[in-house]
Amino acid sequence: MVKISGSKESLRYFGGHASGRCRLKLRSCLDFCHPPIRVMKTATHTLASVSAMSVGDPPTSTTPSEAADQGAGRPGALDAKPAGDLPASRGPQHPTAEKRGVPSGLWMRCEDCGETLFRKEVERLMNVCPVCGRHMYLSARDRVRFVLDEGTFEEWDPDLMPADPLAFSDKKPYAERVIAEQKRTGLKDAALTGCGMIRGRRVAFAVTDSAFIMGSMGSVVGERLTRMIERATEQNLAVIIVSGSGGGARMHEGILSLMQMAKVSAALARYDAAGGLFISVLTNPTMGGVAASFASLGDLVFAEPKALIGFAGPRTIKATLRTELPDGFQTSEFLLEHGYIDRIVRRADLKSEIARTIDYCGK
Ligand SMILES: [Zn+2]
Repeated sequence: MVKISGSKESLRYFGGHASGRCRLKLRSCLDFCHPPIRVMKTATHTLASVSAMSVGDPPTSTTPSEAADQGAGRPGALDAKPAGDLPASRGPQHPTAEKRGVPSGLWMRCEDCGETLFRKEVERLMNVCPVCGRHMYLSARDRVRFVLDEGTFEEWDPDLMPADPLAFSDKKPYAERVIAEQKRTGLKDAALTGCGMIRGRRVAFAVTDSAFIMGSMGSVVGERLTRMIERATEQNLAVIIVSGSGGGARMHEGILSLMQMAKVSAALARYDAAGGLFISVLTNPTMGGVAASFASLGDLVFAEPKALIGFAGPRTIKATLRTELPDGFQTSEFLLEHGYIDRIVRRADLKSEIARTIDYCGK
């Protein structure tokens, strides 16, 4: 390992060169601080490597073609480094590298503890850091794979597609954005709903995926969840919803998006009156209109460790109240202490814990 001086924070990712404090000679600095341009030029980009970027944190709303332009996930670009050498993904040490997306490879860096991790090992642990236990982003499909019994998931309403009633356009038209997100994530919208088995118990199961327009709740998400809850009411199934939504309501659909909060909540009220069991699982992040509606209405509310859960983000609250926020504000641990959630459940234990709860509640 190369010894580098400077404060731990500024040099954590070998960022000394950028900050002018790197003590390496220029050639070494180029080796350590910059990706090898020669390899990057010859490398090609594939869709598969974009999906590989999902490990770590939710990818940004970059389309595959944009990602290709930006140079994300070039197979072989930095993978050729042997184990024990510097990591393939050099992490956010480089302002441009951070902006453009870290090339995916054999190695990745944990954003919490800064450790360099073998990507395969992290994937084996369901995207949990083996060093500090950080629960990283997990796609909706992977969530289904890890929580439900193998091959039992049956998707409901897969053909519901979002409309564009406002002809909304920000950086690009909403209609185009939806198509790009669909291609990138392989999902039709931010929620995946259906039924399946959890250790032999049939349940209605839904996941919201924070990679699809921040997991925001548009009309399709609301409609899918509502239909799922109504079917669960008819069929007397336990409902499990795993929320991963940083976006709340989807502004692109205006009022139609906001009314989903009331619609899903009303369906849950009828489900509750019929004696149903709803387990809400909150993951990082669960914010905005999702947190303010169905995600908080569980008979039991579980959360993954250190998940960010709240309505407005901490920066907004801090700016509004003009006061310091307590340590750990809006984390699972903080909310457990204050009675907002019932239990913190590690990802590896989630399946067993849900099965146990269903049995305990006699469902
Ligand atoms: Zn870690």
